[in-house]
Amino acid sequence: MNDELATNVPLAPMTWFRTGGPARFFAEPRDAAAFCHAVNAAQAKGAPLFVLGEGANVLISDDGFDGIVVRPRNAAIQLRPGDDTQHTCVTAGAGTHLQDLIDYCLANNLCGLEDFSGIPGTVGGSVYINVHYFEALLSQFLVSARVVAAGTGSIETVDNEWFRFGYDTSRLHERKNYLLDATFRLRNETQADTAYARGRRDEIIRHRMRRYPTERTCGSFFRNFLPDEVPFETNGKKITAVAYYLDRVGVKGELRVGNAAVSHKHANMIVTSEGAASADVAALARRMQELVRDAFGLVPRPECQLVGFERSPLL
Ligand SMILES: Cc1cc2nc3c(=O)[nH]c(=O)nc-3n(C[C@H](O)[C@H](O)[C@H](O)COP(=O)(O)OP(=O)(O)OC[C@H]3O[C@@H](n4cnc5c(N)ncnc54)[C@H](O)[C@@H]3O)c2cc1C
Repeated sequence: MNDELATNVPLAPMTWFRTGGPARFFAEPRDAAAFCHAVNAAQAKGAPLFVLGEGANVLISDDGFDGIVVRPRNAAIQLRPGDDTQHTCVTAGAGTHLQDLIDYCLANNLCGLEDFSGIPGTVGGSVYINVHYFEALLSQFLVSARVVAAGTGSIETVDNEWFRFGYDTSRLHERKNYLLDATFRLRNETQADTAYARGRRDEIIRHRMRRYPTERTCGSFFRNFLPDEVPFETNGKKITAVAYYLDRVGVKGELRVGNAAVSHKHANMIVTSEGAASADVAALARRMQELVRDAFGLVPRPECQLVGFERSPLL
C-alpha cells in the first residue's frame, strides 16, 4: 500500500502560516472510494490520520506529522430540489473551497451562504469548525452530510443533529469520522435579490481585506470565551471577545517571537514572515496566553488546530 501514498511530503506550502514539517505519508483523494481507501490504509498501518483542508486554521509542528495526511480534493457541486419550492439543496465535496461554493450558489440564484464570503477554507474544514461570521453559523444551512468512519472506512449519511454543532465545534472534533461531502439548504431568490446578495458578498470581502491580515495567518488564533467563562461585563453583557483582552495587554502590532508577530490589524491574529518556524508561532501564542492570564485570570484557548505536537506547546 506504501506505493500508493506519497512519502515525506512538505506540508508548509499547504498551510496559511507556511510553516511546519512534512507528512510521513500523504494522499489527495479525488472521490469517495479513494478517500475510504486512504482511511483503510491508515487503519492497516496503525498510523494516525489527519485530514487537511486549505490549511487556513492549522499549525503543523516543525517535526511534521508522523502518520498519513489526507487532503481531500473532491470538489464536485450538485443541485437538487429542496423540500419546498422556496429552497434548493446543494451538495459539495469536502475539498470544495467555500468561496467557490458561495459563488456557484449565487450564480444559480441561491442565497444564504454569502455571509461567509472571504473566509478561506474548504467545505471539510468549514463544517469541522462550524465557520461563523458575526451571528451567521454554517450549521444553520447544513441539512445532511456523508462521513467516513475512521475505524472502518465505511460511509454513513448523517443529519444536522448528528454533528452536535456549537460555537467553533462539531462532532468531527472527536476525529472518529471525516467529512466526505455536505448538503446545504438554500433559498431560491429572484435575480434582483441575488444581485443584492452579490453586493453583500463583495462588501464583506472588501471589509475583511481592510480589517484582517490576508496572508500567513490562521485568522483568529484563539476562540472567543464562552459567557460562563468570563466574569467581566459591559452594559450587562459578558465581554467574550478574546481580542478585547489581548488588546488591553498591548500585544497588537507589538509582540513578536522570531519570525512570528501579532498583527497590527488584529490583536488575535498572528502573522508569520519568511523563515518562520511553527515553534515561533507556538511560543508567541503561549506568551499571549500568559499575558492575558496574568492580567485577567483568563486563559485563551486556541481555535487554531495544533497538529503533530507531541505535547501541547500552549498553556
Ligand atoms: C485570514 C483568515 C480569516 C479567517 N476568518 C474566519 C472567520 O471569519 N470565521 C471563521 O469561522 N473562521 C475564520 N478563519 C479560519 C478558517 O478559515 C476556518 O477554520 C476554515 O474553515 C478552515 O478550513 P480549512 O479547509 O483551511 O481547514 P484546515 O485548516 O486545513 O483544517 C482545520 C481543521 O479542520 C479539519 N478538517 C478539514 N477537512 C476536514 C474533513 N474533510 N473532515 C474532517 N475534518 C476536516 C482538520 O483536520 C483540522 O482539524 C479564518 C482564517 C484565515 C486565514
